Order: sequence, then structure tokens, then C-alpha cells
Amino acid sequence: MARANAAYYAQRDPFADFTTAPEISQVFGEILGLWAAVVWQQMGAPDPVILAEAGPGRGTLMADALRAIAARMPAFAAALRLHLIETSPRLRAIQAERLSATWVDRVEDLPDGPLILLANEFLDALPIRQFVRAASGWQERHVVDSAFVALPCAAPAHPAAPDAPAGSVIEIGEAARSIARTLGQRFAAGPGAALLLDYGPAESAAGDSLQALRDGRPADPLASPGVADLTAHVDFAALARAAEGAAAHGPIPQGRLLTRLGLFPRSDRLARGLAPAQAVALMDAAQRLALPERMGRLFKALALCHPAQATPPGFEP
Ligand code: SAH
Repeated sequence: MARANAAYYAQRDPFADFTTAPEISQVFGEILGLWAAVVWQQMGAPDPVILAEAGPGRGTLMADALRAIAARMPAFAAALRLHLIETSPRLRAIQAERLSATWVDRVEDLPDGPLILLANEFLDALPIRQFVRAASGWQERHVVDSAFVALPCAAPAHPAAPDAPAGSVIEIGEAARSIARTLGQRFAAGPGAALLLDYGPAESAAGDSLQALRDGRPADPLASPGVADLTAHVDFAALARAAEGAAAHGPIPQGRLLTRLGLFPRSDRLARGLAPAQAVALMDAAQRLALPERMGRLFKALALCHPAQATPPGFEP
């Protein structure tokens, strides 16, 4: 999965296959930028501060965020040092057309110091392992000659494993957990916050969520490695557990976070200056991001913070 996605993001245009929240409405990036600005104040306004984004895609979220930050909190704009975590050379070049930043390959490569990290639809692209409960015991799925081969293994460390009925699939996202562990260690030691947005359940559950998109349509995940986009649901509860040392807030539904942060009034204000058709499209975009039956419930937001910091905006009980 790691190698297939590395090839995919290096060679293909992912936005031909799927659309993400920042590409749906500029207000998404703007309000996440203002979220970061408020968190920066909660951290005691450190200068310098690293503002990082993991998997920035076309750079749209960050461009919208920086515009809102410059307009509303110039002191944060002056203090921030932009870092982008991106492995795809192709996407780095596209990001460089819009953003001036320092690029790194991994979260672990970020320099020390106060950090605010944003990640939207990044963790779902990271590799998972799958375990199947067979009648004879647990088996792990491997890929051999474009087919799954299940080999006996120990029970996976997952809360749903002990009671999993035969046929259940359990997924472990080690790469995502390792990032959460890194952030936890960092935020245990000093000021910082991360906002992770992605799709997946609020509680760790059994289930096969591996999916592939090719030319915008569901495809067989094993059929065309590097040509289809591979994703899996993000296990937010596991991430919160892995981020030991940090305070975890949420996960809460994305719709709740965006609504609390002012998605609708902000979209409304912006719509007033637009032609009717564009105004209708902007308000529909807000609904697409926030309504439970659209992206508002499947997508979740988890915040990880230094434990002495205030609850970040939108995560109040
Ligand atoms: N956040 C963007 C793009 C999501 S697509 C948006 O919301 O539109 C996933 C992004 O993560 C792409 O930029 C991809 O190149 C990057 N990516 C995928 N796997 C990665 C990895 N292992 N390390 C770093 N970046 C990765």
C-alpha cells in the first residue's frame, strides 16, 4: 500500500480521482487558518512558530489559511515558519507555485520548537495491515502476485480483536499511529497542537475499509498498483491512544467543528459579494462539508495538544 501510493502520488493527478474539502470551498482553509491563529495565542504566541501541513495536495488549504491569517492576525503571519510534509516530487512542485515553504518528507523531520500542524485527508493514504479472524485463529493478509494470501499470526493489538467473530477483518494503521506517537512525545515536552481531519469511525471497530479509486470510480485495490488511489478509514481512537503525553480532544464530527468555527456565517458573508449562481454554489459547498448525510459525519476532527494548553476552538464540550 505504501509503495503503490508513493507511485500513485508521484505520477498521477489525485484530484482527477477525488475531491477534498479545501477544493470544495475556500472557507474550509480560511477557518482552519484562523483555528491555528487562535491556538497560537493559546500557546502564548511563540515567535518563531512552525506552521506545518502534512500532505498538502495542491496547497489550496494552506493558501486559503495564510490569506485569512494575514488579514486577521498579522503577528502570527510574521511569526510562522511554513513547513510542508510531502513525499511526492510532482505535488511539491505544484505546492511551490503557490507557497514558499520548507519541505520535509516526514513529521519526524520537522525542526524542534513550538508547532502547529494541520492534516486533511493525509492519514487515510498511509498503509495499513489487515488481519482476518479465521476459524483456526488469526491470519494476516499479505499480497502475493496481485492476490491476498492469509498467513497465520498472533492476535492483533486491537480492542475489537478479542470478541471478533469468524470472518472479521481488523485493520492496524501503524504509520498513522507512529505519527501520533511522535506528536504525543513532542507535545508532552513543549507547546504545540495538531488538527487531524479525515474519514473514519469515532471508536475502533472491526471492518475492511481498504478502498481504491481509479479514474474517479471504485476499483479493485489489488488490480492496478500505482494507478489507483488506495485509502483506508482512520482509526481516531487508536491515534488518540498512541499520542500518549498529549491531550487529545475529540474526535468530533467535522460538521460540528466547522459549524462551531463559523462555516455558515462566513460562507454567507462571502456569498453576498458573488453572482447568484456562485453564491448558491458556495452555500451548497458549506452544506456538503458540514451536513451529516454528506461529509459532516463520516469525516472527523481530532486535536492533539500540549496538556497545559486551553481546549482548542471548536472542541469545547
Ligand atoms: N490535504 C490535501 C491532499 C490530500 S491527498 C487536500 O485536502 O486536498 C494526500 C496528500 O498526502 C498528497 O499531497 C500526497 O502526496 C501526500 N502523501 C501521501 N502519502 C504520503 C506520505 N507517506 N508522506 C508524505 N506525504 C504523503
